[in-house]
Amino acid sequence: MTEIPQNKTRRNAIFMKIEEKISAGKIRSRVDELAAQISKDYEGKSLLILVLANGGIFFGVDLLRKIAVPAEVECVRISSYKNGTTSSGTPEIFGNLQPENFRGNDVLIVDDIIDTGTTLRKIRDQIENFGARSVKISAFLSKRSRRKIEIEADYVGFEIEDCFAVGYGLDFAGKFRKLPVIGKIVVPET
Ligand code: 5GP
Ligand code: MG
Repeated sequence: MTEIPQNKTRRNAIFMKIEEKISAGKIRSRVDELAAQISKDYEGKSLLILVLANGGIFFGVDLLRKIAVPAEVECVRISSYKNGTTSSGTPEIFGNLQPENFRGNDVLIVDDIIDTGTTLRKIRDQIENFGARSVKISAFLSKRSRRKIEIEADYVGFEIEDCFAVGYGLDFAGKFRKLPVIGKIVVPET
């Protein structure tokens, strides 16, 4: 991934340039397609959507509104970024998930992006251990070239190149999460 120099963190984020990669319209129509597919696949099942906060909230809510079958919702905060741009490699789960909420359910984990795969692998293993009937993953973005762990998302919005993406839930040191488009950070010359 493009590493953002450490002197260009939070304080300087306002000066960053963002190059649009996926428009709001394209995001919307892809979410519609995914929701239609998920609705078909989960017809008659006991769907529980587990949204990974903070990044997965935007995609999770958009997806939930469009899914045509009944679904329960759970949310958990998970973070692997210590300083905003470099992954610590060990995702931390904040708060207690109740195993009984997952047991026997068809769980769909929703996140913003699957990068190395570490985060989704950790949470997927835990939900499987809780006794879920099935566990699948939906990630809005995927950077397949960066995968370190053998894991794939079952529903992917877009495959993207190896870059530092922001918007639609993805942040840079806490900023840009609410952008309605997916953009790529362009580091300005110093
Ligand atoms: P993984 O565990 O798959 O390496 O990374 C998962 C998490 O890292 C994502 O949920 C996301 O929070 C963060 N991440 C990975 N790639 C990017 C990126 O390009 N931009 C941003 N903003 N976050 C990323
Ligand atoms: Mg995340």
